[in-house]
Amino acid sequence: MADAERPSALEPIDPYEWDTPMYRLAIAQLDAAAELMGLDDNLWERLRHPQRAQVVSFPFRRDDYRTVETVVGYRVQHLLTMGPTKGGVRYAPDVSLGEVTALSIWMTWKCAIMNLPFGGAKGGVRIDPTNLSKSELQRITRRYTSEIIEVIGPERDIPAPDLGTDMQVMAWILDTYSQQKGFAVPGVVTGKPVELGGSEGRAEATGRGVVACAVEACRHLGMALEGSRVVVQGYGNVGHAAAQIASHLGARVIAVSDAKGGVYDPKGLDLPALDAWIAEHRFLEGYPDAEAVSNSGLLELPCEILIPAAVQNQITETNADRIACKILVEGANGPTSLEADSVLCERGITVVPDILANAGGVTVSYFEWVQGLQQFFWSEEEVNTRLIDLMQRAFREVMAVSEHEKVDLRTAALMRGIDRVKEAKRRRGVFP
Ligand code: NAD
Repeated sequence: MADAERPSALEPIDPYEWDTPMYRLAIAQLDAAAELMGLDDNLWERLRHPQRAQVVSFPFRRDDYRTVETVVGYRVQHLLTMGPTKGGVRYAPDVSLGEVTALSIWMTWKCAIMNLPFGGAKGGVRIDPTNLSKSELQRITRRYTSEIIEVIGPERDIPAPDLGTDMQVMAWILDTYSQQKGFAVPGVVTGKPVELGGSEGRAEATGRGVVACAVEACRHLGMALEGSRVVVQGYGNVGHAAAQIASHLGARVIAVSDAKGGVYDPKGLDLPALDAWIAEHRFLEGYPDAEAVSNSGLLELPCEILIPAAVQNQITETNADRIACKILVEGANGPTSLEADSVLCERGITVVPDILANAGGVTVSYFEWVQGLQQFFWSEEEVNTRLIDLMQRAFREVMAVSEHEKVDLRTAALMRGIDRVKEAKRRRGVFP
């Protein structure tokens, strides 16, 4: 084909199957950083695509036994250059191939920023886990595992918990995989229970990393976390741990929420009382000792530190000018749109991006993998100290790029991650 007829390498002619708003966000972020870096076009184009994407559908039996429903699941591996691929599995009603692909791309940058020997992956099943019994969730998990069994494994691709999944789901994946292989393979997942070879400190690791970033951002701005007002959207694995650890360090957690809405007390919430309420009622709804607040209202509460730790696309051009925090630490993946990013930047709000802020989870997953390989397990204190050390180091490296290149922290984090991947890809060359 003559050069003049060839479409530009960086503009896909037809949308790909994974072309969704979230995928476009991941690509727009990659493009912005790649352009600034002067990244080689061939590599740039390569990084825009998932290396492998598997879509599966399978039946599962409801508890009444007569009803059989069909659900769709995904496993996407973005980059196989660095080692095994790594990434969570999410259970949510709107999971799509594009969403999982975007998340796998972010996992690649996250692992590279933290200097972990993994490429990015992500999986998901399109279900609403809140409408399913534990036994239904177990059947779905076991069947999903058996559908993707050829692409996962301790040396191939290692799932972990994400939205709507937890250590119990990881235990079912481990058991299903091991049953089919004929021997125990604990290394097939991370984020598993400690009794099965999980790591101390993994459950709180993402939240702990989020707070470590908040502390570093405060330090950079000459503020203190102690006494700061903290607002957390999403009181699940990440948000709960972040709120607890921030409170432990002396911050005032004034609002938290779940999928149904939130609670607010400007004097600071009583977190143990909230936990007791949730243990009994499952959701925050109806908690008597604080004001009710909607999920969108919560994001606009005046505070020093805002932590979105629920779902994507929460801070957009429609509310970015009303966000009233000084520091936004992204616990969730993709909570801020591209347009919102520039509004927040203009307004002087420091955004610690997801690929840095929530990398604590994959970092302790890496510790879990290393401990499992050596069959030598660390104390919780050792895990937490090493995690904080790596998070602080990564934050400072990203901050140094941001100051040197005069770019925001997201662009700096992307540049750092892409640069590591670029060097590895250059060394390996193109096969064949
Ligand atoms: P989770 O399922 O444990 O908790 C999610 C929380 O958000 C729950 O309180 C849920 O009720 C709430 N929620 C769900 N939908 C909501 C909505 N539309 N609006 C407001 N709240 C809603 O999930 P998690 O593991 O804590 O993950 C939360 C986010 O953090 C996700 O974006 C995930 O990708 C990201 N993340 C998780 C980990 C991890 O280790 N679990 C690591 C990195 C990033």
